[in-house]
Amino acid sequence: MGLYWHHDHDALASWCQSYEARVQHIRARKPQEEHELRLRLFQPVREPPAQLVWICQLYDQVSQLVDELDRTTREVAREGLSVPLYVLDDLGSVREAALQTYMQVAAARNLDLWEWVKSDQAQALHQLECPECPWNGYSIFPDRAYW
Ligand SMILES: [Zn+2]
Repeated sequence: MGLYWHHDHDALASWCQSYEARVQHIRARKPQEEHELRLRLFQPVREPPAQLVWICQLYDQVSQLVDELDRTTREVAREGLSVPLYVLDDLGSVREAALQTYMQVAAARNLDLWEWVKSDQAQALHQLECPECPWNGYSIFPDRAYW
């Protein structure tokens, strides 16, 4: 997991939870003629801002914790053990509270992945780390109408 250039054709940089899963997805689902470019450009940001990585990891940890609680609760219910419905409903509230808390922390520390992606710092880093890139600000396929 980490911050990657061009996770998608229309993304400069995004947080990626699994490099291997994304590579598999590209190979399985994207047109063959796009593989070389997509796989060449999909690469880790080598020198990302440490605080940005920290806040993205925090989001992942919060999400994984809530997912694990949800999965375990449903497993217990499937095993025939009694799980009151309010417990499942409460997990939705826990997820919402965790997300709100994460957003408060991110705002307090002025950390926003999408703002960073638009920043001059990100543009300059991209130029350094992703040479010979056809990115035009919208897509890695600048000559193609891609909708
Ligand atoms: Zn690039």
